[in-house]
Amino acid sequence: MKITIIAGARPNFIKIAPIINALKSKQMEGFDISFRLVHTGQHYDKNLSDTFFEELNIPKPNANLEVKSGSQAEQTAAIMIAFEKELIQNPCDLVLVVGDVNSTMACAIVAKKCNTKVAHVEAGIRSGDLSMPEEINRMVTDSITDYFFTTSTSASENLLKYGSDPANIHFVGNVMIDTLYQNIERISVPDFWKEQQLQEKNYIILTLHRPGNVDEVSSLVELLYGIDNLVNDKKILFPIHPRTQAILSESETQFKNIIFVAPQGYLNFMFLIKNSFAVITDSGGISEETTVLGIPCFTMRDNTERPETETIGTNTIVGTSFVNLKKTFDSFLENGQKKSGIPDLWDGKASERIISILLNKK
Ligand code: UDP
Repeated sequence: MKITIIAGARPNFIKIAPIINALKSKQMEGFDISFRLVHTGQHYDKNLSDTFFEELNIPKPNANLEVKSGSQAEQTAAIMIAFEKELIQNPCDLVLVVGDVNSTMACAIVAKKCNTKVAHVEAGIRSGDLSMPEEINRMVTDSITDYFFTTSTSASENLLKYGSDPANIHFVGNVMIDTLYQNIERISVPDFWKEQQLQEKNYIILTLHRPGNVDEVSSLVELLYGIDNLVNDKKILFPIHPRTQAILSESETQFKNIIFVAPQGYLNFMFLIKNSFAVITDSGGISEETTVLGIPCFTMRDNTERPETETIGTNTIVGTSFVNLKKTFDSFLENGQKKSGIPDLWDGKASERIISILLNKK
């Protein structure tokens, strides 16, 4: 079986690493399975791309489509045009896409139109919020996917509701958590740790990059100003996404508690999360990692496509206003962390399950 694996953006790299490891293990066992790795070039910044390949031992891509930035349509179209050529030159039995970025949807469409089967890892999750491009990517991808691999029973139920064939829906667990377990012994302290006087539990991690939170400079500054004053005795460590950085550079506001650092590599970032007091974020992936690490997470969105991070895990959806964040955070400071657990099958073995299932699909 020949599989083409697609990766385009930071969270994709983290998700494909354990899938490739599982695939290589099966090759070593003598199974007839091979892969070609295609990087679409959606994220090309070293901090968002190369670092992850190096740290997670992901092989050098066989092809890089180098599409880079653009509007939603420009980027999606550029990926489709380049991937169609790539797939015609290098046909395969199956295209495997992960997550919900433009590369996921664009390559799924191209594959399907070339009569190639599509597997979607992290299928079926839904926020119901069509103002987020990721939700549209999820819906379109799942509407043409052949093999669905889900992280939760609720994602599987969503797919059944939309009429997907139950025989092709496989609840396997979470590949992002596979990566976490595979690397937890390798996490490493960042260079600035001492200089910034960081210590276990004396800082909060902040990440923000969703258009709704960061695209308007005055509301971004207002939100950051509030977060800067959220607690007196904790630093706020903000690995700032290039998109957020570009918008914030329009303002000269200074912050007293926020420490701005570059986007972190995986091993440093996981070290920072594991040792933090709490996390404030608008990332979906981070709410899964904090759930497994038992770190309180406050998500600055009105909804989530990962409800188990809130019903079982450490996540609390606080909405996008600072007033709500403050209310929820104050209650956490007063009452302590809510009870939490780890969702079913988030056990580090999702990728092995995926490859075993695919081998049986022949
Ligand atoms: N991440 C990282 N360094 C950072 C910020 C995030 O390694 O400075 C990792 C994080 O641990 C998670 C993934 O990137 O695994 C989430 O990526 P992102 O927030 O871009 O995507 P989303 O979760 O919003 O889809």
